[in-house]
Amino acid sequence: MRGDSMIRPPECPFCNAVLSPPVEGGIGAGSQFLGGTCKCGAVFGSDPRGNGLGALIIDVLLFACGGDWDLTWELRQGEDYEERWTYGYNERLHHVVPNTAGPRRGVGTLYFVRLGPHLSGDAGGSGRRR
Ligand SMILES: [Zn+2]
Repeated sequence: MRGDSMIRPPECPFCNAVLSPPVEGGIGAGSQFLGGTCKCGAVFGSDPRGNGLGALIIDVLLFACGGDWDLTWELRQGEDYEERWTYGYNERLHHVVPNTAGPRRGVGTLYFVRLGPHLSGDAGGSGRRR
């Protein structure tokens, strides 16, 4: 039995939409990582070798906050934002091998963040904490 059929393009863990490939500058021109956004508002970044996850978290969060460092540092996971991880992502081929263990060096990883509704800007920014 071939395992190829299990390989699939990555989906957004929040809304299950199939994602477009991450692009250079997708999470800010200053980021070393490729990234992008989902139509549901989630932001994601790709670490093709799984060895820069700490930096990836910061880049994705900062981009999700519109480059606002103060806001980025105030965010609390589970309260102000939700995060998800997808392991086994192949950035070059844009597919995911399911059930890949991580986080681990050498494992391509996608990191997703979606801000809570009070931070997403739908209310014109009035609910934004400072
Ligand atoms: Zn989504």
